[in-house]
Amino acid sequence: MSNPNDRGLSRAERQRMPLALDVAVEIAKHNGVCIRPVVLRRLDTRTGLTEDVNVPCGATMDAKCSSCARRNRYLRMAQCREGWHLEAEPSITPDEPNEEQLWLVEFRADMQAQRDAAEKAGDDTTDLDAILSGLDAEITAAGMRGTLLGRTTAKRNRSTRRRQDAPDLPRKVRQNTTLGRTFTSSDGMVYRPSLFVTLTLPSYGKVRNGVPVDPDAYDYRRAVRDALHFSKLVDRFVQNLRRVAGYDLQYFSSVEPQKRLAPHLHMAIRGTMPRAEVKAIAAATYHQVWWPSVDEVRFEGDHLPVWVERPAREDGTPYLDGQDGDYLDPVTGEVLPTWREALDRLDADEEAEPLHVVRFGDQVDVQGVLGGTPDADQCIRYLSKYLTKSLGDTLDADNPAQRDHAARMVEALRYEPCSPACPNWLRYGVQPKNPKAGMTPGRCRSKAHKPEHLGYAGRRVLVSRKWSNKTLSEHKRDRRAWVMEALGLADEPVDPHRYVWKPIPAGDGNIPSLALRLLRMVAERQRWRASLLALQVKATSQFAPDLSATKEAA
Ligand SMILES: [Zn+2]
Ligand SMILES: [Zn+2]
Repeated sequence: MSNPNDRGLSRAERQRMPLALDVAVEIAKHNGVCIRPVVLRRLDTRTGLTEDVNVPCGATMDAKCSSCARRNRYLRMAQCREGWHLEAEPSITPDEPNEEQLWLVEFRADMQAQRDAAEKAGDDTTDLDAILSGLDAEITAAGMRGTLLGRTTAKRNRSTRRRQDAPDLPRKVRQNTTLGRTFTSSDGMVYRPSLFVTLTLPSYGKVRNGVPVDPDAYDYRRAVRDALHFSKLVDRFVQNLRRVAGYDLQYFSSVEPQKRLAPHLHMAIRGTMPRAEVKAIAAATYHQVWWPSVDEVRFEGDHLPVWVERPAREDGTPYLDGQDGDYLDPVTGEVLPTWREALDRLDADEEAEPLHVVRFGDQVDVQGVLGGTPDADQCIRYLSKYLTKSLGDTLDADNPAQRDHAARMVEALRYEPCSPACPNWLRYGVQPKNPKAGMTPGRCRSKAHKPEHLGYAGRRVLVSRKWSNKTLSEHKRDRRAWVMEALGLADEPVDPHRYVWKPIPAGDGNIPSLALRLLRMVAERQRWRASLLALQVKATSQFAPDLSATKEAA
């Protein structure tokens, strides 16, 4: 069969070909185009024009198609490479936009649209203008303070007995630098040594080919709790590293699945320290989970707590703890302790033990790496190797033993509380944080319980703030800006307030078929590549940035 991707075909020839969706998908994949684009309606608040735009799934959702996942991986590799052996202090330390900022920016865009609509209709816009300038001030303030609202409740103070941030480690005076030491060789070469560290969770029982030898003896409970709290353990490890390192140590790390379905961590560290020290830090690092006990099942089956709404307060203000109802014992009518009350009881109980303690296993691998060597490149590829896969994806679905292992993990997670807000707390007689009507133990919808996450629902890439001068979105923008400039197209700075994005209502008949949309996106991509290729020929050595990398990332 002739390939519709072949540019030798005329337009008419191409149009005669059957437009099967699976063919279009293959073509899209081959061209690195998103195969699950989302159509969004974009209102340009400057011109008032509306346009339907194909947005790559990677830009809008968590689950990325293979094309978007691959592109994301190349961007991450670029980010990792850029920061690892940095020679000068990063001059800016950008914050990832936090939720408040994002919400404010979106809200402002909606207000802008309303204002413009009002103006068009000839209405008075004074009030809306006032709201807009107020929002601008809020957005700026949120950017400077990091969070707009801050903490509304005081942070819980544990007694010293329960302090966990002070393991028995040496502490060095901290130098005010994020750069590691350099060494100059006798011939005057400057070397930038750094570290590549791999940390693994402990054993839960003997494993062969990723499957427990004796599933009944395998400690599933510990395995899922370790996975649930893994990111906290990584935070503690970094805190301890910094105390011992004596400088403002920076890292780029990725959390990856092992074949036994446990998360483990690869970490590129800028600068170096003795291997024995890193191993000692890993061994001394732990995280205690101070949550209420789940030893006793109080409610299950048909015997479940019932939700009762609280009467409105006389002055009409909300209850101090923000709840508008409570879960009660269905038989005695006793109000179950709220999340806050349960934690207070735990604090007051001198005999209490943490629900769980996470530690790393004995397998700690520390490798020295020199900047700019093939070794460093190898590590960067390794760091991002599994970024396109989720924890459950490592599963070999044709292997019954592996399937059984994964099913046991999911079962062990079923009644395990994944967070303070998890409905599973009701099973153990505690109201979840921010409770609502309709919560049922065993039916938590959070990602952590799902077969594809198996307990670890946190971020797959963890990067310290001063790793490089840029965030991932700035890396993206960089590449785009360079390409646009190279093509002689003006790339206006993107005004975050300019566009309002709306999902398209279900049943809107004007959207072309997915197959057609994919082929249009491929055509755009090919036009763009052809122009790049022409440029590459014209100016082989004029442009410093690596064209191949740009092509992958675009
Ligand atoms: Zn996609
Ligand atoms: Zn949950």
